[in-house]
Amino acid sequence: MESIPNCPKCHSEHTYHDGTFYVCPECAYEWDPNQATEASDELQVKDSNGNLLADGDDIILIKDLKLKGSSTVLKKGAKAKGIRLVEGDHEIDCKIDGMKIMLKACFVKKA
Ligand SMILES: [Zn+2]
Repeated sequence: MESIPNCPKCHSEHTYHDGTFYVCPECAYEWDPNQATEASDELQVKDSNGNLLADGDDIILIKDLKLKGSSTVLKKGAKAKGIRLVEGDHEIDCKIDGMKIMLKACFVKKA
């Protein structure tokens, strides 16, 4: 018997082989064992201290940031709640003072 890894999504042990795929009957997740690196391929965003950020985290600005195309300056110490991580140059999608903005993770720290 070959050993089948636990489900990467729900960690169920009741996974089985179906053709070239592994299948989890508990959460219906299917994955290709030849792309086993997929799980570690997840978006990893680190703050200025090297801490991993996750969706829903609260962050604090560590420096004043001038908003592009406006005279608004976001102050150091401003807090954003419930951030969302996105791919790209500015990895953090959040709201500060009611404004929807995109931030670079290197300018924030986890609250
Ligand atoms: Zn599962």
